[in-house]
Amino acid sequence: MNNQKFPFADAPDTACLTCRHVLEDNKPILYVSHDEDGYWQFLCGGNHTEDDARIVSLANVLSIDASMGDLAELDYGEYAEAEDETSDWNVRYMKK
Ligand SMILES: [Zn+2]
Repeated sequence: MNNQKFPFADAPDTACLTCRHVLEDNKPILYVSHDEDGYWQFLCGGNHTEDDARIVSLANVLSIDASMGDLAELDYGEYAEAEDETSDWNVRYMKK
């Protein structure tokens, strides 16, 4: 068992959305959103259709990219995006 503190307020087995580019093509995660309803999304920077969506757990996401823990503080209705793997995250509020 790994006793390191889980960075998210949500449980490690919380379902969240990623895309097949991240999961299957090893693309970097460049868009993270925490929806008003509490749903997390971790996507690459590309365009997506429903076919690209993949459901994983928050623990899965951290195993793909441990730095996602840095974004665990994103509040409801906020999202963060980055230009590429090395640039800083820009946090914004979603427009209603
Ligand atoms: Zn993608």
